[in-house]
Amino acid sequence: MTIEHIETLIIGGGQAGLTMSHRLSQRGRPHLVVERHRIAERWRTERWDGLRFQFPNWSVQLPDFPFRHDDPDGFTTSAAIVDFITAYAAHIAAPVRCGVEVTALRDGDAGFVAETSQGSIAANHVVIATGPYQRAVVPDLPIDGTTFQIHASRYRGPAQLPKAPFWSWAPARRARRSPRNCCARAAASISVSASIAACPGAIAATISSAGSS
Ligand SMILES: Cc1cc2nc3c(=O)[nH]c(=O)nc-3n(C[C@H](O)[C@H](O)[C@H](O)COP(=O)(O)OP(=O)(O)OC[C@H]3O[C@@H](n4cnc5c(N)ncnc54)[C@H](O)[C@@H]3O)c2cc1C
Repeated sequence: MTIEHIETLIIGGGQAGLTMSHRLSQRGRPHLVVERHRIAERWRTERWDGLRFQFPNWSVQLPDFPFRHDDPDGFTTSAAIVDFITAYAAHIAAPVRCGVEVTALRDGDAGFVAETSQGSIAANHVVIATGPYQRAVVPDLPIDGTTFQIHASRYRGPAQLPKAPFWSWAPARRARRSPRNCCARAAASISVSASIAACPGAIAATISSAGSS
């Protein structure tokens, strides 16, 4: 059986994989980028709706491709980052094959053989640009009706949070209006802790209502 051969195989069509593709193209080196879903998939489906890029617009750039904006000190949206990375892939004419997942990597005659969802690919070099935070590490909390857990990659917005008794702001607002009522304040307090477990990508927002005392 003949299998496809490429000098360099890049696994992952995020900003790192595309940047590597650009640098190899500049050097005239043959390569292929395989992406299991779509270019910039993390920013499409693994970020919450209100997320803003954590660095100001003036600092956002990819090699030879500036980020266009009208507010240097603003913080852009995930959707704009998707557009930016997608436009970058087009700008550099990256040879990206979407919908191809690498499931295994083994030694081969040329160097490596990648097993993919669409057959095997032999490569002299492999760049693994699959990004950080591959596996969720979610704290093992008791499911006892007082705790709601959701992984950051699945969280989209407050509408996903359960209604009372898990989550109710109303008593907290009432308590703030009557500062003398210390007990009411304590009973209404809501603890929100973002626990970052062993893997920092596994940010599990753990929201639990505090017990009254
Ligand atoms: C909630 C959250 C917010 C963040 N906010 C910011 C921010 O504001 N600014 C910032 O600079 N960074 C931020 N980061 C970090 C961010 O992950 C990286 O900046 C960026 O996504 C890394 O790019 P990358 O190309 O290395 O990896 P990724 O963007 O993760 O891209 C990897 C790609 O590889 C693909 N892939 C994975 N496995 C396979 C496989 N087996 N076969 C084929 N394809 C595969 C994935 O589908 C993905 O498209 C954030 C991370 C998280 C979790």
